[in-house]
Amino acid sequence: MNPGADESLQMIKLNRRIAALKPSATMAAETRATELKAAGVDVISLAAGEPDFDTPERIKDAARRALAEGRTKYTPVAGMRELKDAIRLKLKRDNGLDYDVTEIMASAGGKQAEANIIAALFDEGDEVIIPTPAWVSFVAMVNLSGASATLVDCPEDAGFSLDPDRLRRAITRRTRGIILNSPSNPTGAVYSASQLGELAKILLDAGLWVLSDDVYEHIVYDGAAPHIFQIEPRLKAKGFALNSLSKAYAMTGWRIGFAAGPKEVIAAAARLQGQNSGNPNSITQIAAIEALTGPQGETRAMMEEFRRRRQLVVERVRKIPGFSLPNVPGGAFYVFPNISGLIGMNLDGREISDGNSFADLLLDAAHVAIVGGNDFGAPHHVRLSYATSIENLNSAFDRIESVIARLKR
Ligand code: GLU
Repeated sequence: MNPGADESLQMIKLNRRIAALKPSATMAAETRATELKAAGVDVISLAAGEPDFDTPERIKDAARRALAEGRTKYTPVAGMRELKDAIRLKLKRDNGLDYDVTEIMASAGGKQAEANIIAALFDEGDEVIIPTPAWVSFVAMVNLSGASATLVDCPEDAGFSLDPDRLRRAITRRTRGIILNSPSNPTGAVYSASQLGELAKILLDAGLWVLSDDVYEHIVYDGAAPHIFQIEPRLKAKGFALNSLSKAYAMTGWRIGFAAGPKEVIAAAARLQGQNSGNPNSITQIAAIEALTGPQGETRAMMEEFRRRRQLVVERVRKIPGFSLPNVPGGAFYVFPNISGLIGMNLDGREISDGNSFADLLLDAAHVAIVGGNDFGAPHHVRLSYATSIENLNSAFDRIESVIARLKR
């Protein structure tokens, strides 16, 4: 690069919050893997949480029809009426929750829905509780709103679940909300109905906004994941059900998700969406209607495949020296092993100091992409996605084992 240009770029004064914004660790890990693949390197990626299955044919057919019919114009900013009705149907069918159309906003992915709700609700001086380990973007979204994130540690030996006493202690007079995510990305922890009941009592008493990220609700291995608003219906008046079609219907690239909650906040978030991006893609909206209202068998079939992979991954991870995985994940398609046993070891002088440095080393030395736990709030862990074939998983673990065998203390 031209050094002069570089210097002038460094002098640009960015918005304070954007300047402090880090790249998304999950997206960055996947981008590095894609770049290496493009350069001809044989990389196996266990980085992004992205199902390897193609979008079901019935959904692609609906999109093809929509395109042929020329449904290529703007739609209402928060989504077309038929999509909102499909989302209502889904929330009733899958979660037993009733919503009005005015209480629903469709967005370009679950991420945009969550970011817009968080931006609409929280402000400088507010605190938002995030049980940790947590998905990397929650903290970033909260910080962008001006609020600060209160990370509440959920220890591995407690199954990575939020302890009610720790929750009580974390609530101050500034606390305005909490973000829950069950099944959890990255830990795979799933809250039971009784755990949710205990937490719900505290949240109701404290009058907090409850943001429930339900993205992995269908990828759950031991019976359905209960919804906190079903366990405590009074929470729904101050709650948001946040979701995406990315995982359940293998639609990551289509970018479609939604938020359901009190209409005043939905309207505010939709105003924001109207100013900074507009409606989610019109063809995608029509595909989403088919996804949500058509036969739901594909999601169950994908789930069964994830179950087979989970078994393999748990077995193989547990055999790797230096990795430990005390909890079998109950949902989602990630394992989140503890790599404390590798800290301080090195490969040809390159030291492993945390999850991120191990992930970097693995990418360089074994061409396996994983995500370090640092930005999930767990620097002694790494996240491996098993949303890839059994064959890829076996090769990835063979490579990981051969790198581990070369480590020295
Ligand atoms: N949520 C997925 C993940 O954690 C996709 C990437 C992202 O949006 O962070 O890998």
